[in-house]
Amino acid sequence: MDFELAAALYNNYFNYKENSLTARWIRHSDISPLIDKLDNNIFKVSVCGNSYCGKEIRLVTTGSGEKRIFMWSQMHGDESTATMAIFDIFNFLSGNDGFNNLRKKIFKDTTLYFLPMVNPDGAEEYKRGNFLDIDINRDAIRMETPEGKILRNTFDKIKADFGFNLHDQNVRYTAGDSYKKATISFLAPPFDHKGMVDATRGDAIKMINGLTRILNKYIPGHIAKYEEDHEPRSFGDKFQGLGTSTILIESGGWKDDKEKQYIRKLNFIILLSAINSIINKTYRDETFKIYENLPYNKESLYDLVLRNLKFKERNCESLMDIGINIDEIYGENPEVFITNSTIEELGDLSTNYGSDEIDLHGYDYELPGNCLKIGDAANLQIKKNGVLRYTIDNGTIRNPLLH
Ligand SMILES: [Zn+2]
Repeated sequence: MDFELAAALYNNYFNYKENSLTARWIRHSDISPLIDKLDNNIFKVSVCGNSYCGKEIRLVTTGSGEKRIFMWSQMHGDESTATMAIFDIFNFLSGNDGFNNLRKKIFKDTTLYFLPMVNPDGAEEYKRGNFLDIDINRDAIRMETPEGKILRNTFDKIKADFGFNLHDQNVRYTAGDSYKKATISFLAPPFDHKGMVDATRGDAIKMINGLTRILNKYIPGHIAKYEEDHEPRSFGDKFQGLGTSTILIESGGWKDDKEKQYIRKLNFIILLSAINSIINKTYRDETFKIYENLPYNKESLYDLVLRNLKFKERNCESLMDIGINIDEIYGENPEVFITNSTIEELGDLSTNYGSDEIDLHGYDYELPGNCLKIGDAANLQIKKNGVLRYTIDNGTIRNPLLH
């Protein structure tokens, strides 16, 4: 793995960032003009077919080399981090600067195939499924969705050596039992229920091993492994079994990066590092060790944990931790978020973490004639010796004494 290249990409990323893509709700109308204006001396664009609602799904190809690399993104409409990174990669490939040697090698030794936004109808509504809410990534057997058919037909035509299946995952996953968010999770999807490793899957594992070593320089402790069960309805599992070394990359959470712009940059670095490694065959020198020891994604993180509160009701006191999640969901207007807080868990949360935590030992809360319920919005008043000290207002802590 080329750590110097990764560092150079990291430091020069700003030159290639596609500045028209700034937030995670990326739609077909955002990427279409960018594909239209790609330099046709470098890129070939072809229409693979139409989505359920008739949006064109286009394949972007570049290079004329022997090694075929296929990258597809946003099969789930609300998972756009890698789509943004793909357009950064297009800018990189269009550049003319100190990276020209790498560009030359890419064009000579590889043919790159990009299918950005497999699910434009889902993207339009910022939702996972296609227009009919069918999960395209559970359609690899039945092949009922036009989008799934397009992905499969494109795959069959390319017969790639490597495939990169690019997704986003729950932003609250942690890397194993740590409090650190799983910012990037990998998987070399298994092609059978036994989890066999053949040469194809072995190469995917080795590549992940190398990419993890690169990411360890930037996000140590924030790299995890996705659930390893074989899912025959998933395209990654299917493609692995058909002889393309397939790597699932899941972009997760990073503190204070709701729009996932830092994680997009990490995608840019690891995807280009992977291409470079395929050219130089350095992935072959990797072992399985780091991959095997990657912690799994775990769901143990809440956005806010209030610890050690006392709840007094009916002459009875209960010690309680409160786990709260705060979702920012898009309303009708893509510029405006709606904040939704939810009480997720009550009781002993000593094995959970909070992105934010506050120890409220000595404080209590009262909801006369009522008690908190899971699923409620997080609105409560917190007192000490009968005096109001904090209010939790839709998941936000406020100290009324400071106002
Ligand atoms: Zn996904």
